Amino acid sequence: MAAVEVPTHHKALIYDKPGEISTKLETIETPKPGFGECLINLTHSGVCHSDQAVMCNRWSWLPAPTQAGQVGGHEGVGKVVSLGPGTENSGLKIGDRVGIKWMAGVCGNCLPCLSGRDACCTSGKISGYYTPGTFQQYALGPAHYVTPIPDALPSDLAAPLLCGGVTVYAGLKKCGAQPGDTVVIPGAGGGLGHLAIQIGGKGMGFRMIGIDSGDKEDFVRGLGAEAFFDITKYSKDAEGTKKLTEDVKKASTDGMGAAGVVVCTASNAAYGQALGFLRFGGTLVCVGVPEGDPVPIAGADPGSMLIQEKRIVGSAVGNRKDAIDTMNMAARGVIKTHFTVEPMSKLSEVFERMEKSQLVGRVVIDLSKE
Ligand SMILES: [Zn+2]
Ligand SMILES: [Zn+2]
Repeated sequence: MAAVEVPTHHKALIYDKPGEISTKLETIETPKPGFGECLINLTHSGVCHSDQAVMCNRWSWLPAPTQAGQVGGHEGVGKVVSLGPGTENSGLKIGDRVGIKWMAGVCGNCLPCLSGRDACCTSGKISGYYTPGTFQQYALGPAHYVTPIPDALPSDLAAPLLCGGVTVYAGLKKCGAQPGDTVVIPGAGGGLGHLAIQIGGKGMGFRMIGIDSGDKEDFVRGLGAEAFFDITKYSKDAEGTKKLTEDVKKASTDGMGAAGVVVCTASNAAYGQALGFLRFGGTLVCVGVPEGDPVPIAGADPGSMLIQEKRIVGSAVGNRKDAIDTMNMAARGVIKTHFTVEPMSKLSEVFERMEKSQLVGRVVIDLSKE
């Protein structure tokens, strides 16, 4: 494709008052790609809870508070419009559709990178946090690191999957289950959970059990869950947990319990129940970022861990291969997501609705509309 005309300036949404919910539409200079970089004309960006946490400085584990003027966002899709020097072997060409995810770029050389643990890169760059993010019409990305988007996958569908889809797929892989094994998803009706049910079931061949409140039952079963348990029907004490554990085991392959539990909710109570659902050798995967002060995982005493050879692992987003696999699964129609599309000017309002838990499904910003 011939060279594309790139403007000198473009529209971007910045965090004008970090610490509170506030974004501002500004005109900023369009950068030129440096060595190894590509410039992407973004058309869509998903809006994620993690963006809100960054904007409002809610994550104390991040090294520094967010600065005013930060362009947020980390679920962006668009077309490559210009390539910097040193990108000849990247496989990218002008006009290719690519995505930017939470890890905007990694060093590629540290031990976590060499192990395929991109989120743990010792000098990784987070999109929308000290690296200009995807709430803008043009963004730079490392040409070797952006995610190719398959032709069959529309950009608005791809954008939110670059975060939630990749995250649950990587988590499901880490649970070590084999096709035909049972995997339990606490928070099955939520943003991450509903993707986990589809990717784990249709995509990976696991037998999926969903746990959530009863109003989500039809939704979760419709996505392919073989069994569903309404958390509100069990008392919040040890008796309720015992009953739920028995029910999960009964529904599992061989009645022995789940090979994996991938916790897709922020609820500490859900983490407290998860180990009990596992059979021998099973794995609890921590994916949902827990709410409030840190709480140890109940039942993780060395005795019961060793006698049943259970494992607890953490999983943060995913690497390039996870992203490519997820995009291919979505292109094949394995994953359906519910999302609404809003213009750029609605971003603050979207965050306000998110704060009040009023969003149904994901919101994707159409960056071609102010
Ligand atoms: Zn996200
Ligand atoms: Zn690294």
